[in-house]
Order: sequence, then structure tokens, then C-alpha cells
Amino acid sequence: MPTTVVTGCASGIGRAIRQALEDQGHRIIGIDLEGSEIQADLSQPHERQRVIDELHDRCKDGLDGLVCCAGVGVTAPDPGLIVSVNHFAVVALLDGLQDLLAKGKHPAALVIGSVAATHVLGKPLPLLDTLVGGDEEAARVQARELDQPSAVYAASKCAVTRLARRLSPAWGKAGIRLNVVAPGAVETPLHQASKEDPRFGKAVREFVAPMGRAGIPEEIASLVAFLQSPLASFIHGAVIHADGGMDAMTRPDAF
Ligand code: NAD
Repeated sequence: MPTTVVTGCASGIGRAIRQALEDQGHRIIGIDLEGSEIQADLSQPHERQRVIDELHDRCKDGLDGLVCCAGVGVTAPDPGLIVSVNHFAVVALLDGLQDLLAKGKHPAALVIGSVAATHVLGKPLPLLDTLVGGDEEAARVQARELDQPSAVYAASKCAVTRLARRLSPAWGKAGIRLNVVAPGAVETPLHQASKEDPRFGKAVREFVAPMGRAGIPEEIASLVAFLQSPLASFIHGAVIHADGGMDAMTRPDAF
């Protein structure tokens, strides 16, 4: 039975991913603030290290899968949280669990990005450079100073997508597949909070995909379950949008 770690497993997309992988016979070790096998606040560096240590204790024979789904949106109480949870927690878990994954069977890791990542691609945004540079404290300060949560969110997702792409050559050589799924709007508590926010609600409600609706968590989870399975054995370093056609509509010539 493959063992897979899923962060953010207690709600929304992460909960659906947990279910889809369990349906495929995975044993899940969920990580979330609560309602999970390991409870941890991934915004805190020492908590990430505790998670990594505990997983090394629990999974001495290796880990077969890792899905980094935990995230916060534009309504997070502190923009610093957005960069810490969406980017730096993923950096730490990929780095800290690579050795366990290398011992797994058909190992695969996956990061939940966002179609929002493309909004800052190619734009001069110092925060993006700081995220890629790896200075968490500086990034938290910059995120607060920027005072534009949607740009901070987009930068966090862009940085984490670039991270996965940049790691993929080395991870491929180590035998571990690593992919990114970039959802568009998906009906979850995070999306609901964004729609209701007095600052961003209108823009979020009007950002409608060509398919004319938001997705549901199960539509993301089925893709993740496929990518984490041996059926996807040659898919590596990919960024796959599951967004009802949003990316194709906004960037038809970029692929
Ligand atoms: P959600 O709020 O339903 O679930 C997020 C989960 O992450 C929650 O269980 C939450 O407790 C957990 N989490 C948040 N901060 C944490 C922390 N510090 N430590 C540990 N766990 C923490 O949201 P969702 O929409 O299911 O989001 C899941 C992922 O999908 C996120 O990375 C989000 O950015 C991404 N995403 C969502 C949408 C969307 O429209 N819903 C679109 C694109 C990308």
C-alpha cells in the first residue's frame, strides 16, 4: 500500500485529494492545522521541521507520495502568511522529504499552484525575486509592505511553480516525479471567502472561466490522483492547468 503525505487535507481541494488517493488504496498521512494525522502550523519554520522529523520516524522505509496542497488565499489576516504557507512551507517539505521519497516505490510529488501564478509572470516584482532567493523573513516584510494580497498570492504561486520546475531535472535523476497542478477557481472555503471579501470579491466573482463556472474539489483531486499514480509515469516537471479554460483564454499563445 503506497504511503502519501497530503498537506491541507482537512478542507477543500486537499480533503478531496485525500479521498481520491484513499480510493486508489493509498495510506494517507495528512498534515493540517487540525483534523489530520499530524497537526502543525506550516507557516512556522520550527513546525515544518517537526513534521519532517516525525515523518522520518513514521516512514523509515520511505515515502511514496507527497502532495503539497495547504495554502491560504487573499483574505489571509497577514500577507506574510501567504508567502510562508504557500511558498516556504513547500520549499521546506520538498527539501526535507526528498530522501524519504527517493526510497519510495514509484515516488511522485505534487504541488498545488494556481492559475494566478501566470498573472505575475514576466512582471518586475521584487517580492518574486525574494521568494525565489529564499529569504523568508525579507519576503514576509515585503509582502506586508506591498499591501496587495492578490499580487502576494500570485507571487507565492509563481515562485512555488518555478521551484518545482527548477527542481525537476535533479528529481528526475533521483527517480522522483514532481509536477504542479494549477487550478482555476474552485468552490472551497478559500474561494468562498475571496468572493465575499469587500476588497476583492467583485474581481473574483467576475473572473469566470470559459466553461462558465467554478470547479469542484473532486475535479482537481481526480487529476492529482492520476498524476500520483504509475499511469502518469512519464509526466514529470509539468504544470497542468485545471481551470475550465481560464489560462487558454488569457494567454492563448503561451504554452
Ligand atoms: P481551503 O481553505 O478549503 O483548504 C486549505 C487547507 O490548508 C485548510 O485545511 C487549512 O487548514 C490548511 N492550511 C492553511 N494554513 C495552514 C497552515 N499554516 N498550516 C497547515 N495547514 C494550513 O482552500 P482550498 O481552496 O482547498 O485550497 C487548497 C490549495 O489550492 C491552496 O494551496 C490554494 O492556494 C489552492 N488553490 C485554490 C483555488 C480555489 O479557487 N479554491 C484556486 C487555485 C489554487
